[in-house]
Amino acid sequence: MSSPLWYPYTQMQNLPEPPLVTGGEGPWIHLADGRKLLDATSAWWCLIHGYRHPKMDAALHQQVDQLSHVMLGGLTHQPALQLAEKLVGITPEGLDRVFFSDSGSVGIEVAMKMAVQYQLQQGQQKRTQLMAVMRAYHGDTSGCMALCDPEEGMHQLFSGWLQQHPFTPAPRAGFNASPDDPLLLEDLELLRASFAQQHTHLAAFIVEPLLQAAGGFNMYSPLWLREVRRLCDQYGVLLIFDEIATGFGRTGSLFACEQAEVTPDILVISKGLTGGYLGLAATLASEAVFEGFYGDASRAFMHGPTFMGNPLACAAALASISIFEEENYLDKIARLNQVLHEELDDFTAPGVESTRVLGATGVLEASSPERLKGLKSYALDQGVWLRSFGSYVYTMPSYVIQPEQLREITQVMKGYFETS
Ligand SMILES: *Cc1c(COP(=O)(O)O)cnc(C)c1O
Repeated sequence: MSSPLWYPYTQMQNLPEPPLVTGGEGPWIHLADGRKLLDATSAWWCLIHGYRHPKMDAALHQQVDQLSHVMLGGLTHQPALQLAEKLVGITPEGLDRVFFSDSGSVGIEVAMKMAVQYQLQQGQQKRTQLMAVMRAYHGDTSGCMALCDPEEGMHQLFSGWLQQHPFTPAPRAGFNASPDDPLLLEDLELLRASFAQQHTHLAAFIVEPLLQAAGGFNMYSPLWLREVRRLCDQYGVLLIFDEIATGFGRTGSLFACEQAEVTPDILVISKGLTGGYLGLAATLASEAVFEGFYGDASRAFMHGPTFMGNPLACAAALASISIFEEENYLDKIARLNQVLHEELDDFTAPGVESTRVLGATGVLEASSPERLKGLKSYALDQGVWLRSFGSYVYTMPSYVIQPEQLREITQVMKGYFETS
């Protein structure tokens, strides 16, 4: 391999040249050799309108002709003003302030810093830790890594270097658990015990609502989130929802927290925000959090990435949200959800431990990561771009995919276990 390009999460030794992508359309990736691949991953879950959506492309062309970038320190521009307004309008009531940054990880860093600075300015000098949840994934920067599952392989190596935060066990009761489900009751007890033990040092509690994504596709009960909200209120702890993966329809509602009817104090969104066209994150805050920074200069929020609120990214986000609304994406997502249930719910095969479906997310859990060794090349041979993650085979497709195309993907997911 001769290129100097260094790939993510990849052992570079003996790495074969990855397929060269030259274009795409809808759910299809176009390769230089003429092949087309159905994308089961929507490019790490962000390309919600698929490749080259005409309205997205047009909005970006238009913005390039006006203004590609300007600093947001001391100046402002329409795309950022409009997007902030729009995001306040579509997120749960009570999230009234919007801070932009350029990627999901940085959006989480902003949320952490906001929570800690807020507590310090409230005179809460001891509240400098966050409580996170086992099986969580919140990003790759050092602040975020410290909030990811400490036992899962990805960041274990760094454990001695990272900030130390307490963790509470991941909820095990599934999405449909009834209020008296013994597993749920146990989950809630463990959660209460963690809060009782840790609360004096906590600035905030952070969690991915309903679906812990990259940490193992854990789909859990909304009732657990309600208890999280209650405990945060009881103990004066801010609640941060990381909806970077779940936001923009992935769990079936625009934001996952709607299904639990819980509003966090701080909400972070990114991936689907620009329809996957450009890096952008938004950290939304309640008016109460915002007021903690209001006053003389010394109380200002001390953060400001260079590319914060980039006009191209904001224009892409505005276009993406209007497509989502105008083209009834929640209906599309409901149809995809039905296909995933039909295809995956009753599937059994040697090596398949469990199946899970939520919104436009479908998962097969394998008995071990080794069981999935041949998956990528098996799928490539069938014209599908599918990646495993640990011992999970998942699809999180774009919402423009047609039901029969999604069935092609689930056939490949299942076919792998049936033939190998
Ligand atoms: C992807 C992801 C992040 C990190 O976002 P980046 O843009 O990759 O930095 C954080 N939290 C969740 C839940 C994610 O899925």
